[in-house]
Amino acid sequence: MKKISIPELKVELQSLGIRIKTADKGRKSGAGPAAGTVLIFDDDSQANVPTQSWFVEDSPYSLEPIKEGAFILKYRDEEVTTVRMPPTPRFYGFKTASGIPYWKIALLHGKDCLSTTVLQHCVHWDTRDVCKFCAIGLSLESGATIPRKKPRDLAEVAMRAVEFDDVQHVTLTTGSTRREETCVRILGDAANAIKDVTNLPIHIQLEPLKDLDLFDFLKNAGVDTVGIHIESFDQDVLKVMAPCKAKLGFDRYRKAWERAVEVFGRGEVSSFILAGLGESDRSIIEGSDELASMGVYPFIVPLRPIPQTPLERFAPPAPDRMIKIYREVAKSLKDHDLSWKVCHAGCVRCMACSAMGDFEL
Ligand code: SF4
Repeated sequence: MKKISIPELKVELQSLGIRIKTADKGRKSGAGPAAGTVLIFDDDSQANVPTQSWFVEDSPYSLEPIKEGAFILKYRDEEVTTVRMPPTPRFYGFKTASGIPYWKIALLHGKDCLSTTVLQHCVHWDTRDVCKFCAIGLSLESGATIPRKKPRDLAEVAMRAVEFDDVQHVTLTTGSTRREETCVRILGDAANAIKDVTNLPIHIQLEPLKDLDLFDFLKNAGVDTVGIHIESFDQDVLKVMAPCKAKLGFDRYRKAWERAVEVFGRGEVSSFILAGLGESDRSIIEGSDELASMGVYPFIVPLRPIPQTPLERFAPPAPDRMIKIYREVAKSLKDHDLSWKVCHAGCVRCMACSAMGDFEL
């Protein structure tokens, strides 16, 4: 029997992936770390792990079914532990009055987070400025979703997801729009409609706003937590991997984070930091320390190379590297008295795609 702690196991699985034989290997594409599936461990913590990328077939980890939804996790031939996969949500079985299946409107992420990309278009898609790791346009092309989710439909889906699947929080993201007011209105209207009927805590993800007063508008619309994702602190890396973000400049991010913390509170604002784009450990550790000093949670995620994206042949960072980074950043979080536990909604509360919370001191 292989002995390994759950935080370290999570890191290994997120970096190496897992071989599974079931037909359902999780969502193939979309915004964020797609092409994976969610595993729930005995302590009820969860991990979203790659199941479809090229490196997965070399992973020493595999799953052996024992009964419906339960598996033995194996490292080569050794048993490691038992894990569960969340069952197919019951709300997926419904359709709107106009015939749209609910699963095309929103998905269950992790155990209890209702997630959707409200606007599935991004102005940077099919341009040179696109983020190389993103798959937002692929799920639209495959018919897995619809281009724009109406607030009324989102409210309907959210109500059913609470009723049938006990969802506890919501993540709303969007592609970039030409004008920031458009993106704010789309997310604000969606949040407002969901909040009205469910009162669930809501997380939104958007670009750093230039008009900082728009954060107040979003708060009043029912938004509880905000993700403003820089992805990398290394400007040279960002210019290649996410040119649209590099063009905005670090100063704009800093101003947006600061104002967002004033409006939403410490720990309710976060930023994805991707490890594995070509940056140094130092850039992640120092950048995360700066975020933590502002009250912004550094949501460090190993790169997920998604099939059909420009980075599909990349590999996630090695587990040892991730553990070192998590341990260093955990010290900053402690120094600045910041924890994932204060966050009410979204990726930081879900913590399926990162092991940062598991390494907090
Ligand atoms: S951490 Fe965020 S992107 Fe990952 S499964 Fe949870 S809600 Fe989805």
